[in-house]
Amino acid sequence: MPTFKTVRGMRDLLPDDADMLTFVMGKARETASLYGYREVITPVIEPYELLSAKSGEEIRQRMFTFKDMGNRTVGLRPEFTSSIARLATTALKTEPKPIRTFSVGSVYRYDEPQRGRYREFFQSDFELIGTSNTEADAEIILLTDRLMRAVGLRNYAFKLGHVGVIRGILSEENVDEKTQNAVLQRMDKKEFDEAFKLIKNNECLSTLRGSLELKTDDVFQTAERIKSHVEGYCKAAESADELKSLLTLLTEGGCPVKSVEPAFARGLEYYTGMIFEVYIPELDIALGGGGRYDKLIELFGGESTPATGVAHGLDRIMLAMQMQNAAPMKERKKRVAVVPVTEALKGEALKVSQLLREAGILVELEVMGRKMNRALEDADRRKVDYAVIVGERELKHNAVVLRNLAKREQNVVEISRLSKTIMS
Ligand code: AMP
Repeated sequence: MPTFKTVRGMRDLLPDDADMLTFVMGKARETASLYGYREVITPVIEPYELLSAKSGEEIRQRMFTFKDMGNRTVGLRPEFTSSIARLATTALKTEPKPIRTFSVGSVYRYDEPQRGRYREFFQSDFELIGTSNTEADAEIILLTDRLMRAVGLRNYAFKLGHVGVIRGILSEENVDEKTQNAVLQRMDKKEFDEAFKLIKNNECLSTLRGSLELKTDDVFQTAERIKSHVEGYCKAAESADELKSLLTLLTEGGCPVKSVEPAFARGLEYYTGMIFEVYIPELDIALGGGGRYDKLIELFGGESTPATGVAHGLDRIMLAMQMQNAAPMKERKKRVAVVPVTEALKGEALKVSQLLREAGILVELEVMGRKMNRALEDADRRKVDYAVIVGERELKHNAVVLRNLAKREQNVVEISRLSKTIMS
């Protein structure tokens, strides 16, 4: 038989990494519950049509798709928002608004594998459905800020933009939606020349080019400059105003934004309003990103329903934690190895183990049938705190031998006092 490897772009998370992922997921769940987002669990496999409807060319091309045995064209979800939008038009259709959902799990994209870029990765996703108010956008950014803090990250910064600025200019110049999407997609990749080649109208072109020059270090000033730059483009100017109100709310909420990018675009096609990403200085890839998508639910056959949301890249958050030494202090449970002196005492050893576990102590029972010395050596190697030696002589007095492996001391302890002694 050949030795098997993981498929390219897929990873095994070994115990330390799995622990870390569980920790980050836990913090995401905690954030969800503090902000009133209820968890929903949706399928990994969804109809291709749903996943491709509005995710954008970039993601469409990178989707894992196949025909199932019933000849349905399906895909592995590349993100959560489409599934949640589906729910908003079906099972959650009559829920009173706002609806706040939280999801966490694996998503799949055929990206080129590299550091922080995998084909199977984990996201936590928060969606706030049913309002177009700016405070909803602020909430999505604030809860992201909370998650970053909760996992111990420092110096992270938010980058903010509004797709309505560029789309506003393009729409008023009668650039059709398909071309708009193509322009934004290229701008997302910073391929500005390629993006501008798609535009024929000169005035529109010079406004767009000019928008690249508007950024200053002061975010409010940048928003103000965008506003004056797009004067005459009604929708674009409205977008600039929204950006300003959002900046004000975020500053009041204690989450100042580091940069406002006039030409900021994101890969996903469904965004209609503010968009944002969060970064740390040590990594040039985003740890999370989101934005407002007011048309998606309607496109899926629901009523016109504004919505906003965010997806956090949990693998990248883990990477960031490692780079900033923000690894969680593990709550260290006392670890105990239970070793029977003879074969015949296996059952007694099992009983003692159960008793200790009931008291919340981590117990590794000797299951290799090793002699006492070998079993103790192994316990030492594994950095176990105590060995509990279950022997005939002590059992007669309802007791066992408790050996402190670090101190190399041992005492006979009554079983009834065993867990208390270990915990003390
Ligand atoms: P998106 O759904 O494209 O807005 O992505 C949200 C977040 O998911 C990004 O900010 C990244 O942190 C993360 N992400 C996106 N693609 C990948 C990938 N291929 N591998 C790991 N994380 C990713």
